[in-house]
Amino acid sequence: MTIRILCAWMVGLLMCALFVRTFLVLGWFFPIEVAAGSMAPAWLGPHRLATCDQCGHTFAVGFNPAISADTTTCPNCWNGRVPLNGLAIRSGDRFWIDRTAFFISNPKRWDVVVFRCPMDACQLCIKRIVGLPGESIRIRDGDVSVDGTIVRKTLREQRRLRQRIHDESESTIRWYPESAKTGWKMCHEHWQGMPSGPEVDWLVYHHPARWDGDSTIYDTSEYNAGIPRNLHQIRDVMVSMRVQLSGSGSFQIRILDAGEPILLKIQPAVSRMELIKNGIQVAESMVDECSGSWLNRPIQIEFSLFDRNVLAAMDGREILSYPLASWNPKAYDGTGFSTRDVRPPLGHRLAIGIEDLRIQISDLELWRDVYYIWPIDSSMSKARQPWHLGPAEYCVLGDNSPISADSRTWPGGPVLPRKLFLGKPL
Ligand SMILES: [Zn+2]
Repeated sequence: MTIRILCAWMVGLLMCALFVRTFLVLGWFFPIEVAAGSMAPAWLGPHRLATCDQCGHTFAVGFNPAISADTTTCPNCWNGRVPLNGLAIRSGDRFWIDRTAFFISNPKRWDVVVFRCPMDACQLCIKRIVGLPGESIRIRDGDVSVDGTIVRKTLREQRRLRQRIHDESESTIRWYPESAKTGWKMCHEHWQGMPSGPEVDWLVYHHPARWDGDSTIYDTSEYNAGIPRNLHQIRDVMVSMRVQLSGSGSFQIRILDAGEPILLKIQPAVSRMELIKNGIQVAESMVDECSGSWLNRPIQIEFSLFDRNVLAAMDGREILSYPLASWNPKAYDGTGFSTRDVRPPLGHRLAIGIEDLRIQISDLELWRDVYYIWPIDSSMSKARQPWHLGPAEYCVLGDNSPISADSRTWPGGPVLPRKLFLGKPL
């Protein structure tokens, strides 16, 4: 009897220890702290908060003891003398783990997951799933391809991955009227537009130019300040804003792709939305009685070119999309970006226009997609593209691709076995 009670106690204690170890310690009740910046800016590792003394912009700079920099460059105005010395080092973001996330359902693409590191099971990692079991994965031009086809994100997925480039209401003004005879004016930090003539009245985005005059939007990250690397031109952008429209004319947003204008044209008086590429209509919305009038009420507009797909959304609903042709593979040099790709800087391609319309704009923001990089140093990885995933094998990448240690660089190959997943961060 005594031995049976003793055994029962031992089994009970063992189960308690297992429970504490598995669920309580590993992020269920006690949060896990992010130790590095591979998922920045969504999840920050140890960092310092720097403030530019020229424009007042405050931003997080990752802290790495191996990289000693006294100053950094402001991403808002390119002031290269923002001091870092003496700034307090802040700990990384903390999160809990939803250990029930994959009890029933399988992980999906673009899910952020927490797992045991394949090289060291004692370490936990947080990354984003880009490849699913059975797929062949390739990274090209910043985008992910599966079985030879580019993966195009839905609006919801774009919102989850997008990274802010600029917020007009919280930062330095970057949108300027194109013409001297304009109906655009800034009023209480919001743009307002009035009819000014028969032509479309454009408000154009100007990305701040670097010291060498280059105003291209690159895959820079303020978090990675002080880390020298090659930059890649960003083409996947989204413009979002809240607008209130009145009048019989049209409201337009313009993006240029390889020199060709792509236009979102909205005529609120007739509840009509269309996509025009190079002067030719390529998509048109049907009148939606359910959405009510588009006039004289706040409307949330999102217009993006992500993953070679043009997408227009209103009030969080996808209204129109139009897939663009992929880049010519012969134009790539194998490192993930095109060598023949000569295009005007993106900063001069974005514009908002009105034609015989009044408009009030708030929350005018510019975003970009995550730009995945093929590891330049091939000695970092035994894997070659495409990466073929077997059953119950996943490919995971960090959002902060330039500094992320992930599927691209693991010595054992780019695969993450399903059994190493712990759950989703909360
Ligand atoms: Zn600045």
